[in-house]
Amino acid sequence: MIKQVKIHGPGKVGLDDAEKPEPGPRDAVVRVAACGVCGTDVRYVRMGGLGRAMPLGHELSGIIASVGAEVSNLKPGIRVVLNPTASANMIGNGGSEGGFTQELLVRNAADGGCLFPIPDALPMHLAALSEPLGVGMNAVDRTDVAPGDKVAVFGAGPIGLSAIATLRDRGITDVVAIDLSPRRLELASALGARATVNASEQDPWVELKKLHGEAALMGAPMAGTDAYIEASGAGKVITDVLQNAKAESRLTVVALHDQSVNVSFLWVMMKQMTIRGAMEYPADYSEAVQLLTRWDLSPMITHRFPLERISEGIEVASDPNAGGKVMIDIDLEVR
Ligand SMILES: [Zn+2]
Repeated sequence: MIKQVKIHGPGKVGLDDAEKPEPGPRDAVVRVAACGVCGTDVRYVRMGGLGRAMPLGHELSGIIASVGAEVSNLKPGIRVVLNPTASANMIGNGGSEGGFTQELLVRNAADGGCLFPIPDALPMHLAALSEPLGVGMNAVDRTDVAPGDKVAVFGAGPIGLSAIATLRDRGITDVVAIDLSPRRLELASALGARATVNASEQDPWVELKKLHGEAALMGAPMAGTDAYIEASGAGKVITDVLQNAKAESRLTVVALHDQSVNVSFLWVMMKQMTIRGAMEYPADYSEAVQLLTRWDLSPMITHRFPLERISEGIEVASDPNAGGKVMIDIDLEVR
């Protein structure tokens, strides 16, 4: 038997016993080393999951334990990270498997695109950052930014921090992070933000105009920021960006917005702005692994818990002031 985290109703998380999985001909089984707690995990727990007894967890690293007869691209012993949505597996996102488990069945791993090898030198708990890093990276890739651009990132949770780390990796050095949590802003600085603004103490638009300069629009001063990444989930950020952004600026929304946002498309039209959405990962998932190999993103992980303390981990992850990524160490023997 193995342990497997499942949601059993709103706020109810169980560490259940499950049968050890056996791979079908096209499947692989991964012995999981570490799995991060995502903002969406917190949401799933609050809403009681998608369907009955939903397996949770999708940000994981581990080692291939076994593969089916038709799997030629993977072998037991290979260290890997997972693309949870590939091959329609939806691991930890409503599919029949979840990553907070000792052994994970990855269906149709033979397709390729599900599991990606990682270098031996990359520790498992850092490798598990590939998934959230991929989300922040995709947001940056969709924003049309180049070295020399001035960028503002709203929200310095794990996705905003991932965007900041990617911007630094891409040679974009003038990045301002805006958040309400001093702890998160410290992390933003550690990961490469040039300056930070605590929006509970300072008006971000006054500060952005100081840091990025001003650009006139019909005589009115707009912020000189070239591009915005919205990773906060606060509707007001979108309204404010459209109002304060300069002409030809870009906005990418990667945060989950539950509420409709009332915006002026007059601004979008007059400023010839580009607005994009960003979800999931870069076309090449392994790009996040490569970045993790180039840069030490360990400051992003602020909490680590063993699997038995998953509920505590989820509670910490639901507190925006707690810090960065909560990592669950599932098996420290898997290296
Ligand atoms: Zn995630």
